[in-house]
Amino acid sequence: MSKLCVSITEPDAAAVISAMKSLPPQVDIAEIRLDSMAGDYPRIKRELEIICRNRDRPVIVTKRPLEKCGHAAARDDQKRLMLLKDAADMGAEYVDIELESLPQLSLADLSARTIVSYHNFEETPEDLELIYRQCHYSGADVIKIATMATDISDSSRMLGLMQKHSGASTPLTALCMGEEGLPTRVLAPKFRGYLSFASMTPEKNSAPGQIPWRDMLDLYRFKQIDKNTCIYGVAANPVAHSMSPAIHNRAFAHSNVNATYLPMKVKDPITFLDAFQRLGLKGLSVTIPHKEAMIPLMDEIDDIVERVGALNTVNITDGRRFGYNTDVAAALGALRSALEAKNAAELKDCRVLLLGAGGAGRALAFGLADSVKELIIANRTISRAQKLASEAGAKACGLSEMEACRPDIIINTTSVGMHPDTERSPAPKKMLSRRPLVFDAVYNPIQTRLLRDAREAGCVTASGFDWFVAQAAEQFRIWTGKQPPREIMADVVREKLDAFV
Ligand code: NAP
Repeated sequence: MSKLCVSITEPDAAAVISAMKSLPPQVDIAEIRLDSMAGDYPRIKRELEIICRNRDRPVIVTKRPLEKCGHAAARDDQKRLMLLKDAADMGAEYVDIELESLPQLSLADLSARTIVSYHNFEETPEDLELIYRQCHYSGADVIKIATMATDISDSSRMLGLMQKHSGASTPLTALCMGEEGLPTRVLAPKFRGYLSFASMTPEKNSAPGQIPWRDMLDLYRFKQIDKNTCIYGVAANPVAHSMSPAIHNRAFAHSNVNATYLPMKVKDPITFLDAFQRLGLKGLSVTIPHKEAMIPLMDEIDDIVERVGALNTVNITDGRRFGYNTDVAAALGALRSALEAKNAAELKDCRVLLLGAGGAGRALAFGLADSVKELIIANRTISRAQKLASEAGAKACGLSEMEACRPDIIINTTSVGMHPDTERSPAPKKMLSRRPLVFDAVYNPIQTRLLRDAREAGCVTASGFDWFVAQAAEQFRIWTGKQPPREIMADVVREKLDAFV
């Protein structure tokens, strides 16, 4: 089983020990980053003695040379290496020595287990196997290869290296730094990597892309990942602020599904899909900018994807890729529930005013066009409304004409009212006096200005929050075949949105 190691970058022994003792038992190893400590050799040696005497779990002692991102000066490289030898003499379980420092230090002189490490902060070189062999022939007890990912395909190559050498007598820790390197950190247990490094907090990382230990344990469930764990993720660019990892990982945990769900920053969907499918990718949420570009990469797509021209879900079974669009059914479901609550006419008897002609507007236009009496699309840029209306079989108008429509249902799919501009509404209050059903696609905040105005006017409302949760729940059902834990998923979205306020 892969070990979880937390890097501690504190300036003195007291702070290191306090940080170490705050870690839970699931953290197997603490890495003591001596390069975070200022001062001369005797001072750092004294701090190290205190740390080694008071450690509560195995430690890796690391002191990078200055040019390898050491935070404090290690101008005298001999003294730096002496500190590593001292650490071994003091009983440290592991010391980390860079491959290029080996000529100056004999591994045989060290009583600790030796981690021979290769770092590249610029890129992930093509020939990872060559680097592996150089580390291997050094006589290391553990090999560590850490490179910068400039594309998520670098992560797939690194995971491939981990997988290839998973049974070797010398254990391998292989990881990619940076946002695109995240899969290598989380998936180490699936590919039998020796250990993965995490940070104390988001701010206190010792390398780019390190994940805080709490997220490793609670969000990604690092300790539950094994060779059978299924890989899911959201393919997007940018991806950092996606709520989907929190929603789906909590749902998997609640439903005892052996799977982990990762944010995947994807630039090129073709190379990404090929490489991760080989590693066992089972499914994806797909969002901006890949909703259209993924379609030709599928073996099959459902009717809605065909009509809308966008997918948001991929399911991979028996090597075949199926593309779905859960947005449309989820939006129609939210609308139908609101209609039932209103005890009103059926959708097919309603005149619907759809505000917006972007991605969300497009999904709803195609979803509604055949199911309602009349669909009118109003958009700030009227030419976009006209284009969408002609494709979907609807009418179009400008925002200034929308008041004359007298709709039974108003649906907002513009971004007006979205955080941080939460006091704006896309529809004037007087439009609400006839009490149409009001559906706002915006889900951040949950209670938009439009929905508040509508409720005050006595309208029945449906929220983008319900839509958002419903589309994620449908993805869960497609991937697992299980009943989605909707309330759990909704709680996660609420928690995440509360954090914005
Ligand atoms: P998008 O493709 O960028 O489209 C944005 C739309 O808003 C366009 O129609 C745009 O009009 C209009 N717009 C932007 N600023 C405006 C303004 N100041 N006044 C009037 N119209 C304005 O975005 P999207 O993906 O469709 O998303 C739109 C909203 O729906 C976002 O708040 C998003 O979070 C939400 N959404 C929710 C869900 C859900 O599950 N609940 C799903 C998808 C989207 P122009 O054409 O004139 O630029």
